[in-house]
Amino acid sequence: MDNPLLRAGDLPAFDAIRPEHITPAIDALLPAANAALERAVGAEVPAEYEALSAALDVPLERLARAWGAVGHLNAVANTPELRSAYNENLGRITEFHTRLGADERLYAKYKAVMASPAAQRLRPARPRALANAMRDFVLSGAELQGEAKQRFAAIQERSAEAAQQFSEHVLDATDQFASYVDSARLAGVPADIVQATAEAAAAEGKAGHKLTLHMPVWMPLMQYAHDRALREALYRAYVTRASEFGPPERDNTALMRELLQLRQEEAALLGYANYAELSLVPKMADSPRQVQDFLRDLARRARPFAERDLAELQAFAAEQLGLQALQPWDLHYASEKLKEARYAFSEQEVKQYFTEPRVLEGLFNIVQTLFEVTIRPDTAVTWHDSVRFYRIERNRPGADRPELVGQFFLDPYARTGKRPGAWMDDARGRWARPDRADGQVQTPVAQLVCNFAAPVGDKPALLTHDDVITLFHEFGHGLHHMLTQVDDLAVAGISGVEWDAVELPSQFMENFCWEWEVLSRLTAHVETGAPLPRALFERMVAARNFQSGLQTLRQIEFALFDMRIHAEADAAADVQRVIDDVRREVAVLIPPAFNRFQHTFSHIFAGGYSAGYYSYKWAEVLSADAFAAFEESSLFDAETGRRYRREILEAGGSRPAMESFKAFRGREPRIDALLRHQGMA
Ligand code: ZN
Repeated sequence: MDNPLLRAGDLPAFDAIRPEHITPAIDALLPAANAALERAVGAEVPAEYEALSAALDVPLERLARAWGAVGHLNAVANTPELRSAYNENLGRITEFHTRLGADERLYAKYKAVMASPAAQRLRPARPRALANAMRDFVLSGAELQGEAKQRFAAIQERSAEAAQQFSEHVLDATDQFASYVDSARLAGVPADIVQATAEAAAAEGKAGHKLTLHMPVWMPLMQYAHDRALREALYRAYVTRASEFGPPERDNTALMRELLQLRQEEAALLGYANYAELSLVPKMADSPRQVQDFLRDLARRARPFAERDLAELQAFAAEQLGLQALQPWDLHYASEKLKEARYAFSEQEVKQYFTEPRVLEGLFNIVQTLFEVTIRPDTAVTWHDSVRFYRIERNRPGADRPELVGQFFLDPYARTGKRPGAWMDDARGRWARPDRADGQVQTPVAQLVCNFAAPVGDKPALLTHDDVITLFHEFGHGLHHMLTQVDDLAVAGISGVEWDAVELPSQFMENFCWEWEVLSRLTAHVETGAPLPRALFERMVAARNFQSGLQTLRQIEFALFDMRIHAEADAAADVQRVIDDVRREVAVLIPPAFNRFQHTFSHIFAGGYSAGYYSYKWAEVLSADAFAAFEESSLFDAETGRRYRREILEAGGSRPAMESFKAFRGREPRIDALLRHQGMA
């Protein structure tokens, strides 16, 4: 049969791929990848970069692109049939890659490539690609022998299990709480929440309102319920989930200890002093010490502003709300009231100014001006009528026609069968393919996916300011992927970029959404065509920085806790002591003694953020400081734009992110710009 997933075309035939194509395609591509692995580790393929890449990377890329197309459709055009075909194959794809990543024969081959005389003469970027590959083998335990190797595998398996149990406990503890109250206690709560909680109670044949700890219910209750005792009860229930205060079968205390011990053991097996050190090996940050210094410096600078935020809130709560001695369960409530009193503006009003065509045109103009490219509509087969396709071109001096740099799909609107959120995916990467005789370089293709409200009637789609920021953010990832000039797949564009530096180009683009010079041109009222009023813009900026001092210290509290429990040998024995310590050091508002936040900190116990939570702030510092280079010259300064394009975007993963940053900025990153952008300077 003609299987579109097996067609050797440029781009996937999205309109022709059916669920029944998936298993047969993987049946063909997976054995081919396996055979390629067997061949690559044999004597037939010389220990030499090009030969190994031709033997292995070509079939692996073929598998990755087919599976990538399937995964993409699973996310944007889901059906029950597609989902089951996807899930049917997911296990064997994962198994193959796990095996590939720890294959000792392949590791030996890479070592031989590394040791060969030709390795000294590799063209730029390739040494980095090789070094990354070697590093990943080592971190997957490829160097371990005998008992140590077995123990390493056992640790991986048990850690995955324990992490899964941790998140199940959080989920169950959240789900199993319910409190039933009568409507008198819901004074102040928005009508939709009052109604939804009444319906939830009625569905169980109960009178009154069913209150839960799920965010869409819990948060509005904390923000709006006048009943202080109710807020206190809900606060207590929320911050004691999955702890010793609940049923023992959902208590995460022992799991946290076990996970931390397993991680320290894994680090020791690989020769590191602690897990934090191990976690930082593939990251931009150098050492746990550097990360902690960074967090403490930021804490010290944010502290006066957090103290000011708190004093303002306390004064407002006492004078306007009659709340003396502000308690933890008053914070959301008083903050919401203060925010309303100070910066009230309607999201609906703002939306009228951001029409999608105007916003896109404005975004494209910024990119074209700054990075010396042209963006034009292009044609490709897509997965939905509303999806668009564009090409990015550059005029090279002396060339008779523009050169294709990259292409992208833009899938803007929410619809049934499409996963919520927004993201950028690479459909293919830039690559001087070893299997192409004509010397043509494969150009990158990106998929930009958002979930904006679709247009209604004959009016254009209206975006909220948050939507606009999201679009710029994802486009920043897209530019990182598409403007790369690196020819080696493993380090081209976003590939091979350190995990804590990946958000630099995306958050960088967000900054434009807070510039008057940009917004005044990006906006046109859907009825009148008038630009966003300046006064409204000023209120939006003020609201953005509302309580930024408190918010910053809160993030630092989490990040410092995460770093310390993974860096200190005895932390596992007494997690509570570490978080108490961190709070005494950092927080301006010490939570009550019964607060067990850490028992639901899934990011670090069940997600990928262990000894990595700092990266949120880290990337914000990088992107703010990079943007400050434009503020210091001018927003559309040609030379700064060119330098950013070359040193950050075009360089991709071909060198350490710190080198790229320094090449652009002429120095190491500083935190001043972030503090200034957030009103803390
Ligand atoms: Zn992002």
